[in-house]
Amino acid sequence: MSLRQELLARPGRKVRLAEHDPGNTLGFTDKLAAREELEANVRRLAALQYRLFAEGRRAVLVVFQAMDAGGKDGAIRRVMSGLNPQSCRVTSFKKPSEAELAHDFLWRIHKAVPARGEIGIFNRSHYEDVLVVRVHNLVPKAVWSERYEDINRFEKLLARNDVVLLKFFLHISRKEQRERLLARVEDPERNWKITPEDLEERKYWGDYVRAYEEAIERCSTGHAPWYIIPANHKWFRDLAVSQILVETLEGLKPKFPAPKFDLSKVRVV
Ligand code: AMP
Ligand code: MG
Repeated sequence: MSLRQELLARPGRKVRLAEHDPGNTLGFTDKLAAREELEANVRRLAALQYRLFAEGRRAVLVVFQAMDAGGKDGAIRRVMSGLNPQSCRVTSFKKPSEAELAHDFLWRIHKAVPARGEIGIFNRSHYEDVLVVRVHNLVPKAVWSERYEDINRFEKLLARNDVVLLKFFLHISRKEQRERLLARVEDPERNWKITPEDLEERKYWGDYVRAYEEAIERCSTGHAPWYIIPANHKWFRDLAVSQILVETLEGLKPKFPAPKFDLSKVRVV
């Protein structure tokens, strides 16, 4: 079975994160070999991106979600390092502004969806509206509980309009989070990354687990699948994400468009 098959959250299936080992490497043991494999995938992605852009018919949207210190920034940096910035854009979703809160929760998201030919990467996403919002009761349950349906319909709309969606949950253990937060406290070059909220949010670990389980369970669909990526080992995380991206893009078979006129008669003077 391919990594893509193994890490897919199968649509309609119950999700229990406790059954997914964040330290799993699915039989891969050689970190150096995995790094080489990652580099090969990064090169493949660059070539596929070029075709996708030339074809100009479909967009790709990659969503990253994780607990704090789960590795979203790192995965984006390592896996996307070979992409041409011309047709690729990363959007990080923070606490909504007043203007954003004055609209429906998908308004700011829809504006950031990539155009045909482009690759869009979301660092956090509309899922925050059923994660942090649910955990902290930022809106009543009656409101957030309807959002799963809104999300599924929104993602269906995107899929029908040639946006290929894939969603990665980077799954770390609570212990691994502690170590990463400690490293942020100790390493002067990482101090800037730690916020009082990170320490506060850790207390809600169990609530976040339940919120993630329900989001993945209800919103992993054929047209917008969730993948649960064991992410304690950064080298495996990056290998798995890059591999799934390559497989997905290869499956699209992007084609160079036919020349717009008869090239056999062309003379370049
Ligand atoms: P970071 O990704 O570390 O820069 O942090 C961004 C923060 O914004 C996190 O604490 C998120 O939970 C928060 N955030 C993102 N989207 C939302 C949202 N829709 N509602 C409330 N908080 C959000
Ligand atoms: Mg943070």
